Amino acid sequence: MDHFNYQKGELYAENIPVKQLAATYGTPLYIYSKATLLRHVQAFKEAFAGRNGLVCYAVKANSNLAILQLLAKQGIGFDIVSGGELARVIAAGGDPHKVIFSGVAKTEAEIEQALLAGIYCFNVESAQELDRINAVAARLNLVAPISFRINPNVDAKTHPYISTGLKENKFGIPIEEALGEYQRAQTMRNIKIKGLDFHIGSQLTQISPYIDAIKELKRLIRQLYGSGIQLTHLDIGGGLGVTYSVEAPPLPNELINAAYAELADLFEDVGTLQLIVEPGRSIVANAGIFVYKVEYTKDNLDKNFAIVDAGMNDNIRPSLYNAYMNIITVEENPSADIKLYDVVGPVCETGDFQGKSRQLRLAPGDLLAMRGSGAYCSAMSSNYNSRPKCAEILVDDEKAHVICQRETYEDLWRNEHLLDEAS
Ligand SMILES: *Cc1c(COP(=O)(O)O)cnc(C)c1O
Repeated sequence: MDHFNYQKGELYAENIPVKQLAATYGTPLYIYSKATLLRHVQAFKEAFAGRNGLVCYAVKANSNLAILQLLAKQGIGFDIVSGGELARVIAAGGDPHKVIFSGVAKTEAEIEQALLAGIYCFNVESAQELDRINAVAARLNLVAPISFRINPNVDAKTHPYISTGLKENKFGIPIEEALGEYQRAQTMRNIKIKGLDFHIGSQLTQISPYIDAIKELKRLIRQLYGSGIQLTHLDIGGGLGVTYSVEAPPLPNELINAAYAELADLFEDVGTLQLIVEPGRSIVANAGIFVYKVEYTKDNLDKNFAIVDAGMNDNIRPSLYNAYMNIITVEENPSADIKLYDVVGPVCETGDFQGKSRQLRLAPGDLLAMRGSGAYCSAMSSNYNSRPKCAEILVDDEKAHVICQRETYEDLWRNEHLLDEAS
């Protein structure tokens, strides 16, 4: 459920007509619903009610400061993959002590930044990274809290580009090498072992891959305890899917209850571990829509095109992942015929489309809205074709807040320098 609904044939964001927002702020335009965002956070928090759990929002899904600020106010933590994301979390008022640092290529500078900020845990993805973290911590005379990201070699049954838990993926440490790495870590003076982590992919629509991974890792955890290595947390990553068309992904409480049920026998033997989740998409995707305008229609021999003012630079998900995202009209247009349209953008690439073969009733000047656009859309946007980045609006009931202003042309070359005349 979200707060983008029709009232008398017209799409609203909470209690503001989308048409009015488009008129005020222009198109293309990202619009987020505060109530939807908070509802999703609440669903995770309630799933953990009375249990020792921590929700760490995956910042990369949508890293707008105001969104991070709202989430920080809910008391949740953050999963980051770069020093830039850590800086954003802190700038938004987030608590660095609730930050988990994931990612395969942490630089020395990023490790130092995270240690000085006092983050909760590094998710270590390789033996070399462990050595590097230990060395940086020793230089700073600090102790680095770590968990290993273990690759459990399970099939997340999702798109290959967003599947991360198979042997052939670049992520994590192979489960066969895990015990050895934990033993090495235990001998390091500037390393403190905290937990174990996996993240097997994104847009998972079933619980079973999580359970398969937990089954694999339970065996490893027993081995660790057998050799005197104790943990304080287990991090099952993010990846919970959302509904883009007909998917029916599990709810947060279904996932978390299933995880606890699978872990019950382990917790009986070794004591309860804190359970961490790192949701990105499931918190923010359906809290956003992407609104754009039909500039032209074009009926070629066997194709109808709706040419819109939004390109793959604004939202690359359809081009990059062949992602299906639902496109709806902002207002009914009874005078237009229903046709099958490819919804395409202005960027000079054949791969520049927002949707293919969509049944729509539209005419030039009409507004379209794309549902599920809160995650991995504006966060992945670029200036390709020298297109300024869109404005982003957060709606709270009848109030609209500009949380990112539209870029100007000057913004496009703000960091560029002309050569001096002599050169
Ligand atoms: C991307 C990512 C997430 C979030 O994934 P979602 O599918 O958006 O929930 C969580 N953890 C790690 C390590 C990630 O890379």
